[in-house]
This record gives sequence, C-alpha cells and structure tokens, in this order.
Amino acid sequence: MKDLGYTTLDGRSARLSAKDIEALAAGVRGGIVTPEAAEYDAARKVWNGMVERRPALIARCLNAQDVRHALAFARAHDMRLSVRGGGHHIAGNSVADGGLVIDQSSRRDVHIDPAARRARVAPGALLGDFDREAQAFGLATPLGINATTGVAGLCLGGGFGWLTRKHGMTIDNLVSADIVTADGRQRVVSATQEPELFWAIRGGGGNFGVVTSFEFTLHPLGPEVYSGLVVYPLEQASKVLHAWRDFTRDAPAEVNVWAVLRKAPPLPFLPESVHGSNVVIMAAVYTGKADDGERAIAPVLGFGTPAGSHLGSNPYAGFQAAFDPLLQPGARNYWKSHNFAQLSDALLDIVIAAAAAAPGPECEVFLAQLGGAMAAVAPTDTAYAGRDANTIMNIHGRWQNAADDARGRDWTRTLYRDAAPHSTGGGYVNFFSEDEGERVAQAYGVNYARLQSIKRRYDPDNVFRMNMNVMPEAGKQAA
Ligand SMILES: Cc1cc2nc3c(=O)[nH]c(=O)nc-3n(C[C@H](O)[C@H](O)[C@H](O)COP(=O)(O)OP(=O)(O)OC[C@H]3O[C@@H](n4cnc5c(N)ncnc54)[C@H](O)[C@@H]3O)c2cc1C
Repeated sequence: MKDLGYTTLDGRSARLSAKDIEALAAGVRGGIVTPEAAEYDAARKVWNGMVERRPALIARCLNAQDVRHALAFARAHDMRLSVRGGGHHIAGNSVADGGLVIDQSSRRDVHIDPAARRARVAPGALLGDFDREAQAFGLATPLGINATTGVAGLCLGGGFGWLTRKHGMTIDNLVSADIVTADGRQRVVSATQEPELFWAIRGGGGNFGVVTSFEFTLHPLGPEVYSGLVVYPLEQASKVLHAWRDFTRDAPAEVNVWAVLRKAPPLPFLPESVHGSNVVIMAAVYTGKADDGERAIAPVLGFGTPAGSHLGSNPYAGFQAAFDPLLQPGARNYWKSHNFAQLSDALLDIVIAAAAAAPGPECEVFLAQLGGAMAAVAPTDTAYAGRDANTIMNIHGRWQNAADDARGRDWTRTLYRDAAPHSTGGGYVNFFSEDEGERVAQAYGVNYARLQSIKRRYDPDNVFRMNMNVMPEAGKQAA
C-alpha cells in the first residue's frame, strides 16, 4: 500500500502514510477502496452523472463497528468525511472529494416482522429492496417513487411518495434508529430513547451521525393497487391542470394524482405520433381498497381528451418502479424545487410555458400532490418543517452531454425563479442541489434553531458537514 494525499475537514491538503491506511483497512470488515483499486471508479460514482468527485478512501462498512472505526480514523486525521446510502442525492454529498467515504451501500437487508408490522432496514437498502420484502406480506410504508433511491438518505431528509397522503412521510413511520454519533458512541434513538436526537434525524438529514439500522412501522397494502397513467397533449394543459387542482383539493387521502410535464416517452399505450411530443402525464394511485380504485380515479380520465391511458390493477411494488426507466443513473442532473400551499392560476401558466420550452427530452416538471396525513403532523413535531406543502414541484433538469449543461441549468433556474413568488418559501433538503446551501436554514424554518442546538450537543465540530448542513454556531446559516 502507498501513502496518499487527502483533504482535511477545513479543506487543507495532508498525507496519510501506508501504515495509517493499513490501520484503517484492518478495522473495516468490508475492506477499503483506494484510488489504485480496480473498483475505485465504480465505487465513487453516484446516481447523478454530473458529480465527479475523487475520495481519498472508501470504507465499505458492514456493521456499526466498521462505522465506528472509520469515523475514529477520519477524526484522528481530521479528514473530510461523507456518509453514503443509496448514492441518489442530487448534490453528490455522499462522496467526499479528497476525503473518506463511509459507504454502507452493500448492506441492503430488509427484515419484516409481519405480526408486529415492523421492518428492520439496513442503511444501504434501496426502496425496491424494502417494497419487495414488505409486499411479500402485503405490507408497505411510505417511501419515494424511484425504486433505486436509498432508504437512508430519503428517510433522514423526510421522505414522501404515493402513501404519504394516507400514512404520512417516511419519518412519520420511523420507530427507532441505531446511530453512531460524532463522539463514536453507538446509540438507539426513538420516541423514548434520546428523543431529542430522534426528533432531529426525522428530517435533519445526515447532520447528527451515521445511522446503521432503521426500524419502521408497516401498513397493509395491495399487493395490487389501482394505478396507472393518463396522458394529455400539452395544448390541453391549462384545462387539465385546473381540473386536476380542483379534483385533488378535497380528494380523500387514498387518492394520489401527480402531474408530470415532459416530452412523451415511447409508452406502448400511446400512439406513435404522440411519442416525443409535449404532454402532461397524470400518474394516479389509489391506496384504499382495490375495488374502490376505478371509481375514485375515473374523474382523471375526464380532465380533457386523453392521448392515451393505462389504468388498472397493478402490483404496488411494480408501480413503485414505474418511473425507473426515465430516471436511470448516469445522466447529468440539475434540479430545483419549491413547496406550494396552493397552486395559483398564474403559477400553472408559468409551469406550462416552461414545459413547452424544455431544452431536452429528459427535462421534466413533477408536481407531487401531498397534504392528507403529511399535513396532520405539526411542523415542530419532527425536524422536517414543510408540512404546509400541499404540492412539491421538482424541476428535473436532465440531459446526457456536458455540452448541454448551461442550457439545462438555465431552464431549471428560470422556472425556479419565476415560480418563487408563488411558493411557501420553504423547501425539501433532499431535492437541493449542491449550490443551495443557503436554503437550508429557510427549509428548516421554525426548527432551525433547535436543530443547531442539537448539532452543538452531538456534533459540535461539524464532522458531519457533507450534507445540507446545519451549522452548530447559533445564528449561523449554512454557506
Ligand atoms: C430519481 C430520484 C427520485 C427521487 N424521488 C424521491 C421521492 O419520490 N420522494 C422523496 O422524498 N425523495 C425523492 N428523491 C430524493 C431522495 O430522497 C434523496 O436523493 C435522498 O438523499 C436519497 O437517499 P440516498 O441514501 O440514496 O442518498 P445518498 O446520496 O447516499 O445520501 C444522501 C445524504 O444522506 C445522508 N446519509 C445517507 N445515508 C446515511 C446514513 N446511513 N446515516 C446518516 N446519514 C446518511 C448523507 O448526508 C448523504 O450525503 C429522489 C431522488 C432521485 C435522484
């Protein structure tokens, strides 16, 4: 083993001796990956192809003791440190440039206790892993909508998806977590054990330690749910989105309809002439009794004159992966998002005009219908404060070639800027890009000062700073 250079917490250059590196390797059962290793390039890649970071070392942690050892090593050498789950965060903070990555991505075990309706989930599990195991027992908990997303990052930032209106956010279903804090202590947190830290990790992201295990509550669901897509030409978007807004405003919590504005993918139920044209896709899932789904979702077919539709009883785990083909890893992504309490006519006009001007076939605007059980929790009950967001808009700037970076970023930023006056001003840290650190304090709103105080207690040196960072110093905002 050779010695190698690394970056310290505050950005200085330093060196590790071969002996140091051997000492790290000796205490990490999953082994370490150095820049000379054949698997290094694969191990440092994340979902967003725009992220190009070169860690000094990757520690493949197989258990809490591996995590403690790697953390102690990083602290002893004052190394920049990151924590990786599914590697999906758009900002790429799970890869510390020049630093040490605590990588738990190989730990994908999910254990279901059907009698207790509880799931024990390892920190590298992806949403697809969780859904697959839970659905074998006809159970589920709210997660996101792309099966390759990591449960860890999604949960720690909040987590919402098709079940959120009925059963709350992912964090509302977290029962306990095992966490290694910056002092190297392994702790169990829950409503009764270190409740303040438990409060903080429900939305506070990776700011407070390394979670090595999650425990969730589960709900009966499916395995078939009434679900599918209804596609309208963008020319009808104004009528369709107004009808959607009216329909969803008072809809029961079982009704979930999200709007996606983009160019039509070559879906088999669409005429070929529609492929590649601008459309509004209504993605619908009924999470109540399957027999009631058809009647409950039928109005979606009458928002305009559909170019095509595909609705019916589908396996829930399959529908959870329905958008996966459009969200494959490796593309270049620049995203921005807003929270809305309501959707004004002016905002809908802005979104429709932006969709018509999208610079590429993969750029899209997602409007997620929320509310229901998510809004029933008080903003101060968990660190996630944006409970007033009845809709979250995520602008997916997405393309394949670096030559399109400027065009894609401009489109995303323009829509973000134009839509801003209509938003709550809050935000969702799981959707922030790397240049949005200044939005963190605003996203946590009323909860930010309390998060800072918990950060001072559990991570006063801000060891865990490769995230949407809560600054320990009172009054300070993330840079
Ligand atoms: C295609 C796509 C679809 C998405 N859809 C949704 C959606 O429907 N709903 C939704 O809510 N979100 C969604 N997201 C956002 C998603 O919640 C975040 O990207 C989330 O961070 C992913 O978690 P991860 O573990 O894969 O990420 P990673 O990049 O591995 O981790 C993100 C951050 O989480 C922290 N972290 C990860 N693991 C741990 C751990 N074990 N302990 C402590 N900290 C840790 C670290 O700070 C890390 O930097 C989507 C993202 C993408 C790219």
